[in-house]
Amino acid sequence: MKLYCATTNPGKLREFRMAGEQRGIGIEPVPGLERITPFEEAAHSFEQNAAEKAVYYSRFAPGPVFADDSGLEVEALGGDPGVLSARFAGENATDEENNRLLLERLQGVTGRHARFVCVIAVARAGEVLRIFRGVVEGRILGAPRGSNGFGYDPLFLYPPFGRTFGEMTDEKKMRVSHRSQALRAMLDWYTNAPLAG
Ligand code: IMP
Repeated sequence: MKLYCATTNPGKLREFRMAGEQRGIGIEPVPGLERITPFEEAAHSFEQNAAEKAVYYSRFAPGPVFADDSGLEVEALGGDPGVLSARFAGENATDEENNRLLLERLQGVTGRHARFVCVIAVARAGEVLRIFRGVVEGRILGAPRGSNGFGYDPLFLYPPFGRTFGEMTDEKKMRVSHRSQALRAMLDWYTNAPLAG
């Protein structure tokens, strides 16, 4: 069984492949992905961005393609940064700049509840087949802790482990993360309802 994905990001690809291998599913980037004009995420929901991205790239692959969209939702900020998580502090913002802005916005705010969300959409030949959502709940600390992971990981405390995602190994984060939840749900579905390709 084979599934194509719409990313060449080595970190994501490694995570995807590890989970796929456990189920005998080979995961490969869409053929020639680096030569395809990148899809621009412009929608207001993770679902719509993931679905549009999967549909876009499915036209370039001989079988089903999945695409993901993810981000951080902070309750006290009305769900921000949400779909703008990667560009919270500006178009080419670094993780540090995004984290700094988040802490600024939360100065003096006591309610620090937040969640990471990941949505994975599967499409084939220009049509969405299924959409999966993974969520992990936590809290935003007042200062970063840990240097593992990426993005908002050092600020995101996962209460059941008493650690931030930045203080966890990849393996430990993968047990609970929003991305691996969505991925597992998608792979479970695909294993039971394989599609030609
Ligand atoms: P994308 O899904 O690659 O578009 O990621 C959107 C942005 O959300 C990333 O650039 C990060 O800022 C944030 N994000 C998504 N997932 C995670 C995560 O697991 N840890 C930390 N930040 C994340």
